[in-house]
Amino acid sequence: MQLTLDVYEKWLRLFAKKVESNKLYLSELDAAIGDGDHGNNMARGVSAVEEGFNLKTPQDLTSALKLTAMAFISKVGGASGPLYGTAFLEMAKASSKTDDLSELLEAALAGIKKRGGATAGDKTMVDVWEKVLPTIKDGSISEDGIEEAVEATKDMQAKKGRASYLGERSIGHLDPGAVSSGYLFNSLLKAEE
Ligand code: ADP
Ligand code: MG
Ligand code: MG
Repeated sequence: MQLTLDVYEKWLRLFAKKVESNKLYLSELDAAIGDGDHGNNMARGVSAVEEGFNLKTPQDLTSALKLTAMAFISKVGGASGPLYGTAFLEMAKASSKTDDLSELLEAALAGIKKRGGATAGDKTMVDVWEKVLPTIKDGSISEDGIEEAVEATKDMQAKKGRASYLGERSIGHLDPGAVSSGYLFNSLLKAEE
């Protein structure tokens, strides 16, 4: 599927709404295995993205992706800011060569993995990206599939990020970054409707 500027803006605005209305929940998840700020971090990021769209009205996909990356990198601290920031920055770079959604997301995931060093099974956002991307490529992406990928992080032991300090005690809790990435992909599904 081709990613257009229109669909992209719709996607990010839906993601912003979803993060804003689940800000407390995301921070509660992070309080259990981290430092309790994931909802606040993400809400700061997405509101900066919305503000950027409103004030700068990007005229092409690459500018819109760059604006998103800069919002996360400059407004969000912690692990998630640079990681989501890298994801959108890699998409921005790749968008000069392709507008294929799947290829753009693969560039984003490669960036996340390079930046954070996490692989599948480490109980991070990477677990959701790794499972969902192939379903975007083959067109089988569904709400249930996304949910399953998010839920799978519950039984994992964290190997990266703050949650890894808990060792085995991280088992039995959803990873907050996996949940926010689930929101990202659910918003994409809605934007494509
Ligand atoms: P911080 O942990 O610095 O407070 P956040 O709470 O905003 O940052 O984000 C935590 C989320 O970031 C985790 O739930 C996890 O999904 C993700 N994360 C942390 N470290 C990594 C990493 N090295 N690679 C991929 N994702 C990571
Ligand atoms: Mg945190
Ligand atoms: Mg923090």
